[in-house]
Amino acid sequence: MSSCAICNNAIKPFVSFGKQPIANGFLTKDQFKDEYFFDLEVAFCSNCMMVQLVSQPEREKMFNENYAFFSSTSKRMAEHFKGFANFIRKDYFHDKDPFVVELGSNDGIMLRNFAQANIRHLGVEPSANVAEEARKNGINTTCRFFDEEAAHEIVMESGKADAILAANVMCHIPYLHSVLKGMKILLKPTGVVAFEDPYLGDVIEKTSYDQIYDEHMFVFSLSSIKNLFESHDFELIDAIPQSTHGGSMRYVLGHRGAHPVSERVLRLLSNETELGLGKTETYDRFRENCAASRLNLVSLLKDLRTKNKRVLGYAATSKSTTVLNYCQIGPDLIESISDSTPLKQGKFSPGMHIPISTPQEFRKSYPDYAVLFGWNHQAEIHANEQEFTVKGGQWIMFVPKVEIVR
Ligand code: SAM
Repeated sequence: MSSCAICNNAIKPFVSFGKQPIANGFLTKDQFKDEYFFDLEVAFCSNCMMVQLVSQPEREKMFNENYAFFSSTSKRMAEHFKGFANFIRKDYFHDKDPFVVELGSNDGIMLRNFAQANIRHLGVEPSANVAEEARKNGINTTCRFFDEEAAHEIVMESGKADAILAANVMCHIPYLHSVLKGMKILLKPTGVVAFEDPYLGDVIEKTSYDQIYDEHMFVFSLSSIKNLFESHDFELIDAIPQSTHGGSMRYVLGHRGAHPVSERVLRLLSNETELGLGKTETYDRFRENCAASRLNLVSLLKDLRTKNKRVLGYAATSKSTTVLNYCQIGPDLIESISDSTPLKQGKFSPGMHIPISTPQEFRKSYPDYAVLFGWNHQAEIHANEQEFTVKGGQWIMFVPKVEIVR
């Protein structure tokens, strides 16, 4: 038996995705022999409702100077974060000289919207390479992990914050109690915490099990976030569903009693009851759906191989690591994966060691089929790669179900 990372209750895994490597750990051939693997198992805590990994690799293995995820590679996400910044400025800035802090600010994709408007800002970003990229672009960034100690130092140096933001970061952090203690210290009495993360309801409904990998310690729901933040005297004041990352939720929180609570919170909470997010049967069904998805994807790829079709992967996402290793799909089934991130190109995918190529190579010699690992950026990718389908290429999707689409 393990214990819940939030409330210490006894938990046991409802699904295992087997041995998995570091999801963003793209490697060279000489690194194959020392590659790190861990057991990717997921549990649901019936006491505080948190869905979580049973164990996670140590943080420095994932977030360091070789971090392969540069947020600004997606134009759609840049637009999204402009909208997020405007939402905060319009609805939650009341001070004449507001100060905004973002956790996991990466290459500055969100904070640049504040920097351009001369708003005081600070990014807290532990991965040195992406933090440096942000600094180069004029975004104030401190290269460290956010926790209670970091909050004390920020308050001493810059004062309290009107808004503390995060996107696709909170679900990465196992020591959330220290983070929330830090937020309590850093946030002004009338300030807000606003963050987005992939939403449990979407993961369950779409069987998007690829949202589960080393970095994603938690898959949040309103219920789990409400329980966690209330234990630190915060209040969930709004929650707004987002279409990003295949279905996310934006949570807005304030100190208890400081803001009115939107009626959307109650509506979404009752929706979670209808979805069965508090019932163990829901998670048993999810496990069965994952196994069925694996069977369908592997059968399809094996069938295409016997027909001598060329199959490539498109976008070597962190999420693809779970799929490839859970389904044991290697270079025999997918020849290479095309990705636009220079740091990944010329290397091999974590665990299954599929070569990573460039979008130019993909376009030079189109395959018959491309597995769309970046399915959450489907519209953007389809628009960029129209010629592939015009020339007869077909996309293989696996979320919400395994299918071939033209
Ligand atoms: N916010 C960006 C976005 O949505 O595109 C980046 C998200 S990226 C998936 C997660 C980021 O969180 C990484 O840049 C990582 O270095 C950072 N991170 C991880 N743990 C953190 C912590 N304790 N405090 C602040 N940032 C953290």
